[in-house]
Amino acid sequence: MRLAILSGKGGTGKTTVAVNLAVALASAHPTSYADYDVEEPNGFIFLQPAIAGTHTVTSPYPVIGEGCEPCGVCSAACTWHALAEVGGRVLVFPEICHGCGTCTLACPHGAIREAERNIGALRAGTAAQGLMCFEGILQEGETLSTTVIRRLRDLAEGDAGKDARGHFVVADCPPGSSCEVMHAAERSDLVILVAEPTVFGLHDLKVAVQLVRHLGLPAVVFINKDDGSGLIDRYAAEAELPILGRLPFDLDIARISAHGELLMEDARYKGTFVELAEAVLAEAERGEMA
Ligand code: SF4
Ligand code: SF4
Repeated sequence: MRLAILSGKGGTGKTTVAVNLAVALASAHPTSYADYDVEEPNGFIFLQPAIAGTHTVTSPYPVIGEGCEPCGVCSAACTWHALAEVGGRVLVFPEICHGCGTCTLACPHGAIREAERNIGALRAGTAAQGLMCFEGILQEGETLSTTVIRRLRDLAEGDAGKDARGHFVVADCPPGSSCEVMHAAERSDLVILVAEPTVFGLHDLKVAVQLVRHLGLPAVVFINKDDGSGLIDRYAAEAELPILGRLPFDLDIARISAHGELLMEDARYKGTFVELAEAVLAEAERGEMA
């Protein structure tokens, strides 16, 4: 079962929910945690996995060879404006090249070959209770976050993904509602939307709900920093979104997280995630019966 943990913006507690839920599930089930927040992955800070492997993520870019007879076909074919013909020469801007290969195919003189450049890395390891951990890291200055997300998905979920019966994948998605989020969340069995009870939090939750409905994914809500205002509860009732758990507004939670510790290791909060894991298991069973 694939679980996507999503929030409309950063700093909502998405990673807190993801890592603690992964630990709760791992105590009884084979589970993987994958950090798709490739611009700022921080799940490993809490899980402290023993790293077993690091993989470089590369992307192809064109190199113009001597057979070029400047005709302008390649630069005209590049939607991303990563090629420009200047003074009878073709200039390549690798940092904005999306590695689509269109220019190589379009060149009528076969003058383009492809080279690879590093755009990021993937790390894999194992944490306590056999929790398999994966993270993607986008190299500073690079923009191809979706490429890193796709490679991470192949690595983290290729063998033990949603189709592996009884295996849980907790996907810690990027914040927001961009195409990176769509790549990380698509084909999930359940989306857990983490929301704060503020006016901005409610707005971001509504945007995230639009996104998951566009993707046709079932969703539930987890309320973080719950102050008892009922703001998120009322919207969730209107939108027919079940609330599967909540954490109170509590400075101790902020302190524990700031120290890079797991709430699962604190008796006051452990029950929240054990209950969330049980609720997720119930959803999984319902899905199998449906
Ligand atoms: S590979 Fe695609 S994005 Fe890159 S320069 Fe060629 S056409 Fe443009
Ligand atoms: S399409 Fe080929 S021949 Fe034409 S400018 Fe580009 S590299 Fe040169």
